[in-house]
Amino acid sequence: MTTTCAAPDCTRPARARGYCDTHYRRVRKWGDPTVVLRPWGTDHLQGSS
Ligand SMILES: [Zn+2]
Repeated sequence: MTTTCAAPDCTRPARARGYCDTHYRRVRKWGDPTVVLRPWGTDHLQGSS
């Protein structure tokens, strides 16, 4: 049986502590799998200037 990543909207197989590789890294680093510090390629869409 395969466990799916516990992060919302993530369907990848869990690898550690209920999260996939990507989300587990975020949980370890920030304690929250939904934290995205720098969404690649969206900087020009922020319109913060
Ligand atoms: Zn995930």
